[in-house]
Amino acid sequence: MCRKTLKYRLYTSKKDKHLIEQIEVAASIWNHSVALTRRYYRMYGKPLGANRLMKHIAKLRRRNPYWQKLGSQAVQDVIQRLDRAYQRFFAARTGRVHVRRRSDRAASTRGRKAGRPGFKSRHRYSSFTLKQAGWKYLGGNRLRVGRHNFKFVLSRPLEGEIKTLTIKRDRCGDLWVCFSVVVADVTPSAVGCDGHAVGLDFGLKTFLTTSDGDRYEAPQPLKQSLKEMAKRQRSLSRKLRGSNNRRKARIRVARLHRRIADQRRDWHFKLAHKICDGADVICLEDLCLKGMQAMWGRKAARTRRVDDLGYGQFVSILRHVAQKRGKTVVQVDRFFASSKTCSDCGALNQTLSLSDREWVCASCGSLHDRDENAAVNIYREGASSLGVGDVRPSTTPPRWGGTAVAA
Ligand SMILES: [Zn+2]
Repeated sequence: MCRKTLKYRLYTSKKDKHLIEQIEVAASIWNHSVALTRRYYRMYGKPLGANRLMKHIAKLRRRNPYWQKLGSQAVQDVIQRLDRAYQRFFAARTGRVHVRRRSDRAASTRGRKAGRPGFKSRHRYSSFTLKQAGWKYLGGNRLRVGRHNFKFVLSRPLEGEIKTLTIKRDRCGDLWVCFSVVVADVTPSAVGCDGHAVGLDFGLKTFLTTSDGDRYEAPQPLKQSLKEMAKRQRSLSRKLRGSNNRRKARIRVARLHRRIADQRRDWHFKLAHKICDGADVICLEDLCLKGMQAMWGRKAARTRRVDDLGYGQFVSILRHVAQKRGKTVVQVDRFFASSKTCSDCGALNQTLSLSDREWVCASCGSLHDRDENAAVNIYREGASSLGVGDVRPSTTPPRWGGTAVAA
């Protein structure tokens, strides 16, 4: 059994106001709960448990017709969200000491920063979730929420057993419906590539280089739309605060952001499928974006470029696609010197700098393209750890600039 979320755009209609109102009620309950939790903590020095909070909110709700517009299960969900947010917050706070001591690898996987849950404006609050009650799927693209029927764009088949339903409002003001469904596990019928393995190297110059010698340049949608974005943001900044024109200008900015994100995600999916078309085993380097940033410098344009490329998103999309298609993803240790090691003889080039796009190995004399050499090394490291592919035993790569192993 596996769980997934299917997201559809709702048709705009006059009835949207009922859904928007429920989102705002959820915001009101969220803010009230945040205030209560904080006050309780100030007074007693310990967190207010989710169950007690839920009971208290339920009691308040009985006297509050505005809050009654949101179903009781959706109210529970708001409190559960707050509870999870606090758990992440406390975990991050207590974990911070550990993170510093543990290896960086651990830090990169659990380094998600969780701030203190805060108040949210009702304009910013974006969704509410219904469980069993308060909604009904009417077949096709039709849905009943509360006492109103809605239609959505059936952009893909709605399959599986629906567990929950979330109504979401994005920054453009459009409403979406997200069905959380349970589907039976399908054993992916992997269209075999005879166990062919490929190594991937990510770079700033070339987005992706494979050990087979393929290069992929990222389209950088934000860069493409930078001028238009600046124009729309400028227009927004000129509008009077709180005015209707400012709201419209804000939506125009949000629409462009949404389009850019869509373009990027679309390209990431297509590339992930392309890579899965050509290989059964995919070897990746453990990405550490913070480390990459430190290495590449913090200039604004460069940071924007890294964000625009979206490595992190691509890696998770690639993992998702690979799993769906029955392919294996192997993660190679980040401290493995993939760029500096010669892929022919295993010698280490300590003098390699970032600007060297090509280099000649001092011990065997072969000419290497920087990215391709790294990709071949990643392939070799990953494939040998799995025991697949045509791989000779790898010379153990020295860690942290150990002495070179010359063959
Ligand atoms: Zn060499």
